Amino acid sequence: MTQPCPRCGGRGTISSIEDLQITITCPACKGSSNISTDYIQCQSCRGIGYTSTNHQYNGKLITGTVCVSCNKLGIVKSPQTIFREQQAKQQAEQRAISQRLQQEQELTRQANLAIKQRDQQIADLKQRELLLIEQITENKKKIAEMEKLGQQQQANYLELLKLHLKLQEELISLKQTS
Ligand SMILES: [Zn+2]
Ligand SMILES: [Zn+2]
Repeated sequence: MTQPCPRCGGRGTISSIEDLQITITCPACKGSSNISTDYIQCQSCRGIGYTSTNHQYNGKLITGTVCVSCNKLGIVKSPQTIFREQQAKQQAEQRAISQRLQQEQELTRQANLAIKQRDQQIADLKQRELLLIEQITENKKKIAEMEKLGQQQQANYLELLKLHLKLQEELISLKQTS
C-alpha cells in the first residue's frame, strides 16, 4: 500500500533547505511521488527534515539543524509499523527459542535412547556370560564323572587281570602235580 509522499506532497521534488531557489529530488520518496503507508510525516520537524532552517541573524548565516528523528527525510515509520515490526521480531525470536528447545529435546531423546540401548547390550552380555558359566560348570561335572568312571574301569581291568594271572598260575601248578 502506498500513499502520496507527505514530504513533497506527491510532487517528487522539494525546495532545497540550504537554498530555497534550488529544487532537488525529494529524499523521502526519491522522486517517485509515492511511499509506503508504513511511513508518516515526521512530527519533530513537521516534515521539513530540519528543526531549524538556515536564516540570517545579525548579518550571519545560521545553518539549520538536521532533525534527529528523521535525519533530513521528513518522514518516519508510523507507531503501528514500529509496533508491527517489534511484534514480528519478538515472534521470530520466540520461534528461534522454541526451535532451539526442540533441537535440545531431540538431542536429549537421542542420548537417552543410546544409553538405553547400551544398558540393554550390557544386560544381554551379562546374561550370555551367566549362561556360559552354567554350561562350563555342567561340562566340568560331566568330565569329573567320566574320569571317575574311567578309573573304575581301570580298577576293574586290573582286578580281572590279577584274577586271570592267578588262574594261570593255578593251572600251571595243577599240570606240574598231575
Ligand atoms: Zn516525496
Ligand atoms: Zn524530522
